[in-house]
Amino acid sequence: MTGGSWEADADGVEQAVRTGALPGWHQVETDVVDAYQRYRSRTSGIVADYIPTLADADPELFGISVAEVGGAVHVAGEADAEFSIQSISKAFVYAMVCDELGHHLVRERVGVNNTGLSFNSVIAIELNDGHPMNPMVNAGALATSALVPGATPAEQWERIRTGLSQFAGRQLELDGEVYHSEMLTNERNQAIARLLQSYGRIDGDPLDVVDIYTRQCSLKVSARDIAIMGATLADGGVNPVTGDRVVSPQVCRDTLSVLAATGMYERSGEWLFEIGLPAKSGVSGGIVAIAPGKGAIGTFSPRLDSAGNSVRGQRATAYLSRTLGLNVFASAAHPTEREGSR
Ligand code: GLN
Repeated sequence: MTGGSWEADADGVEQAVRTGALPGWHQVETDVVDAYQRYRSRTSGIVADYIPTLADADPELFGISVAEVGGAVHVAGEADAEFSIQSISKAFVYAMVCDELGHHLVRERVGVNNTGLSFNSVIAIELNDGHPMNPMVNAGALATSALVPGATPAEQWERIRTGLSQFAGRQLELDGEVYHSEMLTNERNQAIARLLQSYGRIDGDPLDVVDIYTRQCSLKVSARDIAIMGATLADGGVNPVTGDRVVSPQVCRDTLSVLAATGMYERSGEWLFEIGLPAKSGVSGGIVAIAPGKGAIGTFSPRLDSAGNSVRGQRATAYLSRTLGLNVFASAAHPTEREGSR
């Protein structure tokens, strides 16, 4: 059964964790620059081209940003270069929908388990009796976007744009070229939406849902933006730069747990094993990794591995997770905290 048999008997008991802090400002600044220097010469991987416009991306671009829950933002390289957010949008639209509709409904409608298959898999839907499985693959993201409140698709789209802009702390704009390019070539997403409709998993017109979803994927962001968006999830739903509350702390917890299990597609287990942070990647080359209670790392570099994850972004995130002491499963104190701590 895809929904699992989890019993909600501990639901009334608050979930909380005691968290440490990031190293001091100078240390983070140095580590971010080091990560950039260390991996800028890596040229393995291939720029995505199944959305024709994405193939035009400059493969040399490489930007890194770390946003702290205290509001400090560190950058190295092309941290302000813009790219279409693509699948990273799935995490934030999911958070918005959870905030509106609640943990249980979204869990039942969209699911939280990994498919073990690629992000645009059709077979995963068939193998699971029409269940979209999780919000980070295309099927689940389409089902999630369909749940965004609004009387018309235009209202739903405006809601998404406003919500993602609140996460970023600035007004995000649509990349019209990417949107049109994807709309001309997204037969597969149209097929997925129709299949979900046939299983009663999408209300409304599936092509409208594909349109909204394609727009959300075409919003322009930078490594700095996704770091701030991630830091909002790390900060219990308050954007650490603007101070605005975007979603509730409970929604952040739910979103991060889904990201841990599914955010890096079929490589999510490997990612968690090596890096130990909930994260989300997109085919244009962005990755955001979130350290709950501490901050987030945003990286951008267009060359991807075979699962569609940025090669340099993964390396830089792995490095920063270690140097900054972010792995959520590590219990040894970070070297900068060791002196006099016991
Ligand atoms: N818009 C892209 C798609 O639907 C997003 C995929 C991704 O970033 N993995 O195929």
